[in-house]
Amino acid sequence: MKLLKFGGTSLANAEKFLHVSEIIEKKNRFEQTAVVLSAPAKITNNLVAITENTAKKEIALNIVDATKLAFVELVKNISKIQPNFNYLKIIEIIKEEFNKLKSIIHDIVCVKYCPNSIHAIIVSRGEILSVEIMKSILKAKNYTITVINPVEKIFSIGDYLDSTVNIAESKKRISAMLINNKDIILMAGFIAGNEKKELVVLGRNGSDYSAAVLAVCLNAKCCEIWTDVDGVFTCDPKIVSNALLLESISYQEAMELSYFGAKVLHPRTIEPIAQFKIPCIIKNTNNIKSHGTSIYLNHDSKKNYLKGVTHLDDIVMLNISGYDMKNINNITPRVFNIISKSKVKIILITQSSSENKINLCMLENKKNIFLDYLKKEFQLELKEGLLNPFRIKKNLSILSVIGSDIYKKHNIASKIFSSLGSAKINVLAIAQGSSKHSISIVVEQKNILNAIKNVHEELFFNNKTIHVFLIGIGGVGNALLEQISQQEQFLKKQNINIKVCLIANSKKMLIMKNAIDLSNWKNHFQQSNHIFNLKLFKQTIKKYQFLNAVIIDCTSDQLLSEQYTHFLKNQYHIVTSNKKANTATWEYYQEIRDTARKNNKKFLYETNVGAGLPIIKTVQNLFKTGDHLIRFQGILSGSLSFIFGRLEEGILLSQATKEAKKLGFTEPNPFDDLSGIDVARKLLILAREAGYSIELKDIKIENLLPKPIENKEDINKFLLELEKLDSYFLKRVKTAHDSGCVLRFIGTIEQTGKCFIKIEEVGINHPLYKVKNGENAFAFYTKYYKSIPLVLRGYGAGNNVTASGVFSDLLHTLS
Ligand code: ADP
Ligand code: ASP
Ligand code: MG
Repeated sequence: MKLLKFGGTSLANAEKFLHVSEIIEKKNRFEQTAVVLSAPAKITNNLVAITENTAKKEIALNIVDATKLAFVELVKNISKIQPNFNYLKIIEIIKEEFNKLKSIIHDIVCVKYCPNSIHAIIVSRGEILSVEIMKSILKAKNYTITVINPVEKIFSIGDYLDSTVNIAESKKRISAMLINNKDIILMAGFIAGNEKKELVVLGRNGSDYSAAVLAVCLNAKCCEIWTDVDGVFTCDPKIVSNALLLESISYQEAMELSYFGAKVLHPRTIEPIAQFKIPCIIKNTNNIKSHGTSIYLNHDSKKNYLKGVTHLDDIVMLNISGYDMKNINNITPRVFNIISKSKVKIILITQSSSENKINLCMLENKKNIFLDYLKKEFQLELKEGLLNPFRIKKNLSILSVIGSDIYKKHNIASKIFSSLGSAKINVLAIAQGSSKHSISIVVEQKNILNAIKNVHEELFFNNKTIHVFLIGIGGVGNALLEQISQQEQFLKKQNINIKVCLIANSKKMLIMKNAIDLSNWKNHFQQSNHIFNLKLFKQTIKKYQFLNAVIIDCTSDQLLSEQYTHFLKNQYHIVTSNKKANTATWEYYQEIRDTARKNNKKFLYETNVGAGLPIIKTVQNLFKTGDHLIRFQGILSGSLSFIFGRLEEGILLSQATKEAKKLGFTEPNPFDDLSGIDVARKLLILAREAGYSIELKDIKIENLLPKPIENKEDINKFLLELEKLDSYFLKRVKTAHDSGCVLRFIGTIEQTGKCFIKIEEVGINHPLYKVKNGENAFAFYTKYYKSIPLVLRGYGAGNNVTASGVFSDLLHTLS
């Protein structure tokens, strides 16, 4: 004997009903088959809505009509496909059921009250009709059928709406039935009968439980639960698209998963089949080839101890507190006594160590029952002020991580907390240890989906995802997007996923939470009509909660750089090629670093000095390991490196400048290079790295141009003016040459912290002698690198090298 259960999702329309009948036929070819059916999808919700609207007769009757129509349509469609289907008979049954329902509604509208016994009758109509419809389909296919009436045979005790089956008695009743071994057995799920032979239901989703019970009662050798997903996943696959299918789990794990919210199984399903050691398989009606998930006793959990992330919504946390609570007689036992008397399921309890607070989490719809008991029990203490009025925190969810012996794994809790922390999600309460197999955390319901996604990603994947918010799509920003796109596959193989969620220039932005397609971003960007300004950008980033989100600043914008602390506080890492923040006041410079440290975020700016050359990291590493600066000398400008190189080859200053501009080495206006201010900024950043708390104004720049230049704003006029200086530079170059030297524009940091930039004559043994053609060079004389300096050389400008430096910083946010 095999037991099959089909949920509402498998019976959602005519085609699905017929598809299910085919599955039943196929199984029945090999062995006798018993089938438990749910109501078709959404029907029970409609029926529940009727019970909620009994005070509004019109609404209730409208829902009845709509539900009836759904069934009429369903059987009409079945009759169009299935030959010999007794349409007229089934339509009669549907009419009869809904007429009964209407008369029940008239009765309860009169008394303005729907007792639970009636409520149970109303909400169970879907299951009754599912069985009638399936019986007609199978009969049309010439099968003989035995229908088990669950009100008579599945004996249960307890609440009308959440009853518990007495397995032994039910087994006895079913064993006593004479069932022809050729018959297909059908039974409505969700329904049972109490000692008065009244109809009761087993709680929402209770057909799974019915299936388990019937499997036990019929001594079935397997219980198959057919649904709309391939089996039990590590997370609800409708929430997390990359959830992993679990091939097999133990009874205990299945129990924990369903208890803490994996809706694929009703929490009480496992108990009976575990007791009678009946294996259970969860299968997909829409994908019969899939192996599904097997649930059985001797499953080896050791390999993969983590099983899933689940959640329960509509939770409230009730707080019992009082200044002198520990002196209230037997407070804890009395609370536990209420739990027992009220029969309200408490999902999580925490008690503060100072014994003046107890928090209890329960389903929102049970809180009033529990509160009534509580107020009655503690009325004296409340009156005398020994207890505070009970506080209720609403709209909460419980996130649980399930795994075998999870309490022994030291890093699970820390991973959960770090992923929640990075996603800016507050933890309101936790419970670990009460069960060996789960850790539960209370969060606000508005955060639950994000919490689940982040925790699941952190626990089940080595994948590291970086969410990028890029501002500035000039040369560097553009090159960066190209490089990210090119490297996508390579990084994926190393489990690194870069998702660019926002691209902005000074006017507008393109936003896509699930990542912008980089192969076509320019088109999308053009079409975007999101305006960019700082206020809107700040609002946008506040909305997102990612584990590893990075703002990349590829602009030279002052105002943007002033927002870095704000971004860090909002849990964004910052990667910047913009020098403005690091050359602002020492105070702001410190504030950024303090904020980054406090928020455990990275602030990375390798490209501020020497573009892609590894200058900043090298210096930081040296000083972290106890080295200190004795003297620094460097050529920090690609354009000036080129110009001075050409001067030494006999080219005039004006000519060399024009060449440099043509080759793209200079700023749009070459005056900005020749003024030395950009070099001063880089020198300031290096000096601060070396520990000197100085400001930009402390850096002395020897005027490269001997007399003030007029018309410097007009590029062409400026280049003409430069010609007037050609002879002066020709002379200086010759003087240097005569003494075996060349001219270099050098930035220096002395050990005292004095910083200056000037043209210097350097001889052949000087480390900067050979540096020209646009190359940058950095010579560090330190405690460790004393007589021969540590020299880093290479191209220190250009879109591609700068973008690669930014890219490298971006990847460093993961470390
Ligand atoms: P049925 O109508 O077949 O009883 P349900 O809707 O009750 O189906 O249960 C199946 C649903 O359970 C799936 O569609 C899925 O969204 C949800 N679900 C929640 N958690 C899990 C999980 N861990 N694995 C699989 N499905 C899950
Ligand atoms: N039809 C009931 C419900 O929707 C029972 C079930 O489907 O398991 O809750
Ligand atoms: Mg279900």
